[in-house]
Amino acid sequence: MGKRKNSKKKNNKFISTIMLIILALLTIYQYATQQDVKSPEKINYDVVKLGEFPDENIIKNDEIQIYFFDVGQADSILVVNNGQSMLIDAGNNEDGALVVEYIKNLNINKIDYLIGTHAHEDHIGGLDNIINSFDIEKFYMPYTTEKTTITKTFEDVVDSALEKNLTISTFEIGEKFKVGDAECTVVYVDNSEPENTNDQSICIRMTYKEQSYLFMGDATKNVEEKIDIEKTNVLKVGHHGSDSSSSAEFLKKIMPKIAVIEVGEDNSYGHPKSIILERLNSLNTNIYRTDEMNTILITSDGKENRINTLNTSLDGNIE
Ligand SMILES: [Zn+2]
Repeated sequence: MGKRKNSKKKNNKFISTIMLIILALLTIYQYATQQDVKSPEKINYDVVKLGEFPDENIIKNDEIQIYFFDVGQADSILVVNNGQSMLIDAGNNEDGALVVEYIKNLNINKIDYLIGTHAHEDHIGGLDNIINSFDIEKFYMPYTTEKTTITKTFEDVVDSALEKNLTISTFEIGEKFKVGDAECTVVYVDNSEPENTNDQSICIRMTYKEQSYLFMGDATKNVEEKIDIEKTNVLKVGHHGSDSSSSAEFLKKIMPKIAVIEVGEDNSYGHPKSIILERLNSLNTNIYRTDEMNTILITSDGKENRINTLNTSLDGNIE
């Protein structure tokens, strides 16, 4: 009996040694193959924390929520109200999966209005992922042909739309639509394919009860001169805070209480430009930046706006 026990022990030892060797080989193999695979993990935004805003009671069903997702040097804005949603842009190509995850974390599976403001990668890059992952009610972009920049990114968007039988529609200036109880007006779009693709940007002014919001895409001063605009509470600053947008005259017409700048940390363009920050400061505008604050969430009951970010609890209501 003793002998048998001993040989059993020896066998066990042998098996575990083999197992260890196999495990070690597997680890080495995994490590070696990983070197060749382009890892999407490089994006260092904090997606899992989306449901963990400092104030847990921040989401209220009868309020409007506007998420300015942190997608680095790119735009992606989600509006949610009364069971409907609108996504304006979806970040760069590499942000697509992230934006999908952001939205899925919010238990949203249908997007009522999907808008690609203009055909640049930092706005439409992630749209194909969005189209592939959600039911899309309506999809809008400015009229785009080879005359505008046709890129692999744009073709990917068109392909995914085709595969889903999703029509790419165009807006006209002055068109109105509703996202839940929020009323949206297309204040600008250029379907004639101007030289500067930024100036094709679909710009939307949205009102929710007493509050108003203006989403400028990457529209420049040329566009600002053409827009007949009223005072607006919240401004998504045009073109990541570039000085080719946000003229003093335009900002004075809007007089925003809150300005949100979607911008990447240490971006090569030097956005946002200090002159734009100075202009906004001189109007006593509160500035919120995704490079400093990560994803920014504005919630409103229609009377006042509450700001939350993933990094900091910025309490205090801003009318
Ligand atoms: Zn842009």
